[in-house]
Amino acid sequence: MIGIKVEKQKQLSDTITTIPCPKKITIPYSKNAKIKVKNKDFVKTGTILGYDKKQAIISSATGIITKISPKIEIETKEEKKVKIKHTNFIEALQNAGIYGLSGSFKPTYLKYQYDASTLIVNMMECEPYVMADYAVSINYIKEIREILVYLLENQSYNEVIIAYPNNQRKLKEVLTTTFKEDDGIRLISLPNLYPLGWEKMLVRATVHKDYQDKPIEVGCIVSNIQTIYAMYKAYFLNIPLYERVITVITKDYKQNVLVRNGMKVKEVLKYLKIPYENKKIILGGLMMGKLATPNTIISLKNNSIFCIEDETLKESYCIRCGKCTNTCPVKLQPVLIKEQFNMESLKRLHPEKCIECSICSYICPARIPLKNIVLAAKEKVRK
Ligand code: SF4
Ligand code: SF4
Repeated sequence: MIGIKVEKQKQLSDTITTIPCPKKITIPYSKNAKIKVKNKDFVKTGTILGYDKKQAIISSATGIITKISPKIEIETKEEKKVKIKHTNFIEALQNAGIYGLSGSFKPTYLKYQYDASTLIVNMMECEPYVMADYAVSINYIKEIREILVYLLENQSYNEVIIAYPNNQRKLKEVLTTTFKEDDGIRLISLPNLYPLGWEKMLVRATVHKDYQDKPIEVGCIVSNIQTIYAMYKAYFLNIPLYERVITVITKDYKQNVLVRNGMKVKEVLKYLKIPYENKKIILGGLMMGKLATPNTIISLKNNSIFCIEDETLKESYCIRCGKCTNTCPVKLQPVLIKEQFNMESLKRLHPEKCIECSICSYICPARIPLKNIVLAAKEKVRK
């Protein structure tokens, strides 16, 4: 199985701290979205602000709209919540604004429109050090079971598979006591390797099949566990998606927090009393995340905030160890991509297949920023 073990020691916690709603919330939306609210409108938490095609854009706070473009800004007031209406499962996903919370951040209803034979529930954390999915799995296992049983009984699936990391003892206990064999829900434990939470690797590891673009080509739908829990809330409780659990990580601290869509990074760090001046902030994971500032807006696609020392390690020469090639999950040769960057032969190395996992940069003893080089090569080949 291709992948790397990033963490030396993992101390897991399933407690979740709720970050209070700030005075201002900023909700981004795409250019194609049709916004139906206007300036000075009063909205509640859960109000539909507009639609992006058939997918609702949900207000994550109660208050007055103070700006519409390019992002919706809400000056928050005392909380009042509104529920969604739906007549069927797909409509529940659309009206609740459910997105894939593993990082793909595509409207979830799109994949649930297909008749699949296997539903794979992804409890493998997408990024090392993050424990948000773990916390949701432990805290909401009954709700997760309810929606999975509903899906198994009412949709096309022959089987539901739950894939979870084999080093998480408490999670294993919770799963084995909640799910019995005759449920039609199969538990599969997998090595805690990165990037095993990536859809393509997960499908290969669980049903031993490969696909080109989407898991449905081999009869599968894959959903992250936080998405499954959001589906439960939408379908059974009529609660839309406007918040999620993320992990905040510093050098010696890790905490799961419930954050609303549209809060600022510094609002979370301040609440947790984490000093952030002169620190490096990464939003969305150490491997695949992006550099952020204290003022960066947290969206529902972010799974974590890293607030760490800014140690820039010096790059040196390639020692031809081959580690970057041996560990790349899509079998690319980053070292050759670097060397042949300006050559016609670059195309034959297929940098466009890179999944941006960062393993090559992480593993390289010479600290060569291989991922950035492969990304630049990807762009070059596409042009
Ligand atoms: S970042 Fe791209 S090239 Fe590097 S290991 Fe991941 S998939 Fe391979
Ligand atoms: S991992 Fe780094 S040092 Fe090793 S072959 Fe690749 S580029 Fe060279």
